[in-house]
Amino acid sequence: MPDAATHLPFYYGSISRKEAEEYLKLAGMMDGLFLLRQCLRNLGGYILSVVYDVRFHHYPIERQLNGTYAIVGAKPHCGPAEVCEYYSKDPDGLCCNLRKPCNRPSGVEIKLGIFDSLRENMIRDYVRQTWKLGGDALEQAIINQAPQVEKLIATTAHERMPWFHGDILRSEAERRLYTGAQPDGKFLLRQRGNSNSYSLAIVYGKTAYHYLIDHDKSGKYAIPEGTKFDTLWQLVEYLKMKSDGVIYCLKESCPNPNLPMGAGAPVPPSLPKNRLGGGIDGYTPEPVFNGSSAKSDSPTGCRKPGVLPMDTSVYESPYSDPDELKDRKLFLPRSSLMIDEVELGSGNFGSVKKGVYKMKKKQIDVAIKVLKSENEKTVKDEMMKEAKIMHQLDNPYIVRMIGVCQAECLMLVMEMAAGGPLNKFLPAKRDQMPTSNVVELMHQVAMGMKYLEEKKFVHRDLAARNVLLVNQHYAKISDFGLSKALGADNSYYLARTAGKWPLKWYAPECINFHKFSSKGDVWSYGVTMWEAFSYGGKPYKKMKGPEVAAFIEQNKRLDCPANCPDEMYKLMQDCWIYKVENRPDFVDVESRIRTFYYSIAVKPEEAKDLSKGAKRTNPNPI
Ligand code: AMP
Repeated sequence: MPDAATHLPFYYGSISRKEAEEYLKLAGMMDGLFLLRQCLRNLGGYILSVVYDVRFHHYPIERQLNGTYAIVGAKPHCGPAEVCEYYSKDPDGLCCNLRKPCNRPSGVEIKLGIFDSLRENMIRDYVRQTWKLGGDALEQAIINQAPQVEKLIATTAHERMPWFHGDILRSEAERRLYTGAQPDGKFLLRQRGNSNSYSLAIVYGKTAYHYLIDHDKSGKYAIPEGTKFDTLWQLVEYLKMKSDGVIYCLKESCPNPNLPMGAGAPVPPSLPKNRLGGGIDGYTPEPVFNGSSAKSDSPTGCRKPGVLPMDTSVYESPYSDPDELKDRKLFLPRSSLMIDEVELGSGNFGSVKKGVYKMKKKQIDVAIKVLKSENEKTVKDEMMKEAKIMHQLDNPYIVRMIGVCQAECLMLVMEMAAGGPLNKFLPAKRDQMPTSNVVELMHQVAMGMKYLEEKKFVHRDLAARNVLLVNQHYAKISDFGLSKALGADNSYYLARTAGKWPLKWYAPECINFHKFSSKGDVWSYGVTMWEAFSYGGKPYKKMKGPEVAAFIEQNKRLDCPANCPDEMYKLMQDCWIYKVENRPDFVDVESRIRTFYYSIAVKPEEAKDLSKGAKRTNPNPI
């Protein structure tokens, strides 16, 4: 989750209350002087520190369940900047209104929190180990799932910290603490049996003191009556800065002798895969298909809550296994292909049937585009052209071609995307699909298109009907019948004659000058977004293609779909910028939709109880 406050000049990052007060003192202590810092207790939260009447006032700002930010019990706002802006106009319960930002002095950078600096590597290692991915597939998985994975890692990061000793007895904890030097503040954390309760042991004056850490119903960790934290590592980091009722500040960690080499470094927690389910806050995907099969990408199956694209068999190429790759050929033997009578759909070439392809080591579900036998040579040639384009592409967000098979007729064998086309899926699932789900799918389409742009291919038929779903949370781009490879020296493809073109999805330069570039695909992406956010609506209603072209020339555009977020309509409008050179490319589009997706994908836990505990100098008798 990128920090939503990094652009603010009065944001200091992960500094302590004491440091904040020092900066405010340095800046003159006038009434209404304020700064913002990271909350060390709540993931995604902030503290607003304000001066009034020569005193400091600190207000926690929390990230709410719906992604908004609010001072506890007060009005919500869409970001930390908006919170500050609001209180600059109206004190609304604060000591005074915010009058003067205490900006970071020159040379003072935002201080990264411990998790900020570990985050990137932890996510990478987690994704690599859990899904055994590498290369591009790894990079894409990180980009697509970072918000979900990040929260998961944050809540379990303590498992890899050197000070975490797992389930050991109190006597063993003391033995470890008393081994070697025993400076004040030497500490360790242990789990109490298999329970969700922990114990913090601290050495002070050569004696070990033990503090019980409870995990309450709302998922918070706290020493009873004490400050509550989202995660154990936050609690430990906080007590390193402030004793907060315990006997002494945590200083030196007593390292767990059983921790594997390299522990404490940013390595991922060892979690079973199913922890990725509804346990990630706010991410409890709905079942997708009716039926009872548990296999996530089974055509008739039911998607298990929490199954991510990487958990499906179509995330990585069937040829990512070197043994399978060795035998890869464009033409597949007919004997390895079983064709079902079930028809998945039909297109210009003929029908698309369900089937199974037997590879060297595994069998995979496939969709087979079957050319009508009576079709003439030109159609055959076109299908071969599509096959040759698809053969060059390998991306998790693009339907991969397995190969072609020339037998009773010509057949194009592809990965199966059992959810069918997006424009048909959306109206049927409208009630079960929140906007965030639509953003998630459109972000995946943007990743697939960014890949095509980078490889210098133009799709030329991007539309919701050509986005197929593997499941409700996993989309792939399909139908490369009109696609072209641009080659190294060309930035566009010039069509000699107009064909049967999807004009409603086409940019003006495609219609007027037959010039097709990735920027033309960006225009189509905007129309596809419009279809998605209107849950399968038909763009431009009953207008015919040429009427749409005239409408665009008059500088008119599709209206914002009902309930579509402003950020997403703005992105569509930018995709429909008339001049190619001013239109964003897919690198921009993907980054913008990703930022928006991250900002809504992770929802924090229950409303936070910020009641500060009384000072405790006596440890719990545990
Ligand atoms: P097309 O000829 O590519 O437009 O495909 C026609 C229809 O066949 C699509 O709208 C889908 O319903 C179905 N279809 C095509 N490809 C696949 C696939 N890879 N997996 C599942 N269904 C597919």
